[in-house]
Amino acid sequence: MSELSDLYQEVILDHNRRPRNFHAIADASHRAEGYNPLCGDRLTVYLKVDGDVITNVGFEGSGCAISKASASMMTDAVKGRSVAEAEALFDRFHRMVTMPPEAAVEDLGKLTSLAGVREFPVRIKCASLAWHTLKAALAHEQRTSTE
Ligand code: ZN
Repeated sequence: MSELSDLYQEVILDHNRRPRNFHAIADASHRAEGYNPLCGDRLTVYLKVDGDVITNVGFEGSGCAISKASASMMTDAVKGRSVAEAEALFDRFHRMVTMPPEAAVEDLGKLTSLAGVREFPVRIKCASLAWHTLKAALAHEQRTSTE
């Protein structure tokens, strides 16, 4: 089990060091700013939606390793998906990070590496910030906060 945690930690460190899709999108159709006052994480999520498919996604901002790694993984996870699929993934991710620590973890691929935040309530908001910001952008809300 500790080996598994090490592996997960590697995934988080890798995404923090080399965040994917870490850039603005000039022709974005949707964008929102997210803020997590508990930790000070701030990020902007950009989306290009064609029809009902998220064809491009990027983010900018600064924050702790968990918030940045989670944003990086979120962009990888929703790129090329339909809006409905992205929203379903939001629900599954949100369920995973807010379940009691002893509950079984659903396999969400790389996103599963963030399941450990369940044991650290303050970190849940760091991990879910990018997802809340994605949801706000899809709803055409300019900004959101984890408060
Ligand atoms: Zn944070």
